[in-house]
Amino acid sequence: MVKVVKFGGSSLADAKQFKKVADIIKADKDRRYVVPSAPGTRFDGDIKVTDMLIALYELAAKGEELDEQLAKIKERYDDIIKGLKIKDFNIDDEFAAIKAELEYNPTCDFAASRGEYLNGLIMAKYLGFEFVDPKELIFFNEEHGLNTYKTEKKVDERLKNIEYAVIPGFYGSDKLGQIMTFSRGGSDITGSIVAAALKADVYENWTDVSGFLAADPRIVDNPVGIDMITYRELRELSYMGASVLHEDAIFPVRSVGIPINIKNTNKPEDKGTWIVESTGHKPEYVITGIAGKKGFCAVSITKALMNSEIGFGRKILQAFEENDISFEHMPSGIDTMTVVVHADEFIPKEQKVVSAIHRLTEPDAVEIETDLALIAVVGRAMRSQRGTAGRIFASLSHANVNVRMIDQGSSELNVIIGVENKDFENAIKAIYDIFVITKL
Ligand code: ASP
Repeated sequence: MVKVVKFGGSSLADAKQFKKVADIIKADKDRRYVVPSAPGTRFDGDIKVTDMLIALYELAAKGEELDEQLAKIKERYDDIIKGLKIKDFNIDDEFAAIKAELEYNPTCDFAASRGEYLNGLIMAKYLGFEFVDPKELIFFNEEHGLNTYKTEKKVDERLKNIEYAVIPGFYGSDKLGQIMTFSRGGSDITGSIVAAALKADVYENWTDVSGFLAADPRIVDNPVGIDMITYRELRELSYMGASVLHEDAIFPVRSVGIPINIKNTNKPEDKGTWIVESTGHKPEYVITGIAGKKGFCAVSITKALMNSEIGFGRKILQAFEENDISFEHMPSGIDTMTVVVHADEFIPKEQKVVSAIHRLTEPDAVEIETDLALIAVVGRAMRSQRGTAGRIFASLSHANVNVRMIDQGSSELNVIIGVENKDFENAIKAIYDIFVITKL
């Protein structure tokens, strides 16, 4: 059995956390490939090492003095090394090399990547695992796109003969061999790529929560945890704002059917959440989760006999495309079509879009509604359960929430509900209560 295990920044913020991580790894001999993040925050108001490194790059780019900032960053690592009592090991030369590189050729990606690189060196030494630099494994094309073929080949070639290895997360190299990083939180992606290339049995992603919750705990008191969720359900929820895992981390493992297990470093005994391609496990509740976002606008276009006008929908979308605005949903009626867009993208260009709609479709009216929030109610069990939509709407009417829009995909995996921004929290609470009180 092969497990690839990724640990997030909060799991590696100081020596105490490092020890917990080492105990977790040593408790299971299948945990063979370890992907660490950079040290995260230790307390409220603390600064992540990655942010300290980006600030260091900014100084370097302006040609300013680096020593003070370098010393602050080095102290974080020295504290970890000291706390772990690692003998005959220091990172003085590494810091000299970082300084030299930033004085000579400062790039933000190089600076940011050193957080994971240094944590990887320490972790490998502490565990007695081999250190493998991802600059020799993970390859980017231009524009931060991954060269999947070359990467998977290299990861497999290089790692398959190493029994236990530490591979820092978050970065790789570009065509010229320069360090390039993923977007923030990208160590999740490294773990997923390594797991996929090695055809691992499971990708464990260790963080500071015990997996996904059925709703945002800032809105619902003590929401239940999600034991198992499919990749498709997760896509719907993360797109709507539920975040534990980097969005792009799903794709590599998903393509080869490897499950992800989200686990809590501070409560390793908790089951966490399993993210799987497909499952026969009967879910406990009709809905798997609820998530949502505020700040949408609905643009409704009305034109008599619109339904028989071929190309009408295309022309409407063209008006948005011409203005570089992507749309989120498009519910329609007989003589109206509504396009839901992000308010911050749309409002600055609204009059241009409206005039383009007029030019292209000659409508009877164009109406704009703002302050719309969208809520996704997601659940693979909804398909086989009669009356789900009815219960959602009954709960909302009971909570005095006016429903402004409904969109149900034909997959019946989710229902999207539009409400006014001010009703957002109440609506989520009402839907949560009605479903989680009633089990399947
Ligand atoms: N250290 C990087 C960040 O803070 C990447 C990661 O933690 O996954 O974004």
